[in-house]
Amino acid sequence: AARVGVLALQGDVREHAAALSDLGADVQLVRRPEELASVDGLVLPGGESSVIDKLSRIFGMQQPIRDAIASGMPVYGTCAGLILLADRITDGIDGQQAFGGLDVTVRRNAFGGQVESFETDLDVPAFGGEPVHAVFIRAPLVETVGQRATPLAALADGRVVAVQQGALIGTSFHPEVTGERRFHQRFLDLVRAA
Ligand code: GLN
Repeated sequence: AARVGVLALQGDVREHAAALSDLGADVQLVRRPEELASVDGLVLPGGESSVIDKLSRIFGMQQPIRDAIASGMPVYGTCAGLILLADRITDGIDGQQAFGGLDVTVRRNAFGGQVESFETDLDVPAFGGEPVHAVFIRAPLVETVGQRATPLAALADGRVVAVQQGALIGTSFHPEVTGERRFHQRFLDLVRAA
């Protein structure tokens, strides 16, 4: 089985661990560099990106995660995790940093606060078939997609909410909370191929 990690500093760690276990992966919660070194792929959960950023620096995880991304390790980020994968963040708070890797500009909380959370069905051409039921919670928007990244999904008005760049995937929404497994499967396929 693929051995994959979920960064377990803050956020919806359990939901991701359950999704990956459902798909047959061997899941390791990652808080320390040694744990990161033992996995072949990493999920960055939803939560609060500025908090995960701060904790990752306190725990000495920022540089190891940056190194893993640079070495080509597959990484999937949802919501806060997408923000953490972005090369550029507009309206970050508190000197917020990211791991980077995805050639995108992301606007944090682009849709507003918790009460502006919404759900919608998205067509994801890479999956064909059934649309993805997507839950957006204080979600970021991919404002610009750089040359190295490719959109995977957009809202009906064209705004991009999922991207891929090589072994990196980011979604503004939370497949881990709806039983949608195709993004996690795509991530695991990248891990197996790596
Ligand atoms: N807006 C949050 C952030 O800045 C992300 C919200 C989420 O992950 N559901 O990290």
